[in-house]
Amino acid sequence: MPTPLPLIETIDGQTVHRDILADLTAMQKAARSFGVDMSVASGFRSIERQTVIWNAKWQGLKPLYDTDGVELDFNALSTTQRVFAILNWSALPGASRHHWGTDVDVYDADAIKESGNSLQLIDKEYLPGGPCEGLYEFLKLHANDYGFSHVYTHGRGKIAEEKWHLSHLRTAHFYEQQTTLSNVQTLISSLDILGKSVVLDNLEPIFKDYIAPYLTH
Ligand SMILES: [Zn+2]
Repeated sequence: MPTPLPLIETIDGQTVHRDILADLTAMQKAARSFGVDMSVASGFRSIERQTVIWNAKWQGLKPLYDTDGVELDFNALSTTQRVFAILNWSALPGASRHHWGTDVDVYDADAIKESGNSLQLIDKEYLPGGPCEGLYEFLKLHANDYGFSHVYTHGRGKIAEEKWHLSHLRTAHFYEQQTTLSNVQTLISSLDILGKSVVLDNLEPIFKDYIAPYLTH
């Protein structure tokens, strides 16, 4: 990132880009009158934090899933397959939209609390019958009114659909423009990520299927 991000705290105590806060807060207020307690599970996430997540998955310390959410057998995967399995659900450090502060994962905090389960950020929580069903309905109808869009949707690239992930596209645009193959390559080369050589050997297909399709510029 060329300049420090202008970060600010949300009413949930999460951190986001300053320029999305007014729209985010207005959207949360509108959701409340829709009967939904929209809360931010995750806003800004540092490259260091994403590296910790990546490295844990690389080492098999956290489960890996296919795009349908079926757990994969870690020991049966080649190192190349392992990289692509991680990418189904986790961004490459340096290439996560959460690094920009412009994107948020949202959930219905009241409904999750009532369900008695902890939030997992999985599809079925947002489908009919799930605790975040109402929130997802609200988002489909009104997120755009506040400048937010779903970006991880079916048919764009190879990342699994994320019904909880919203991007404030107007603010994200600047960072999207800087997300080029050569910038990602330079960044990855500078990080302490496990499996780095496998990632760099496969960076072109990774960029083509897991990063570029979700850039809207
Ligand atoms: Zn997300």
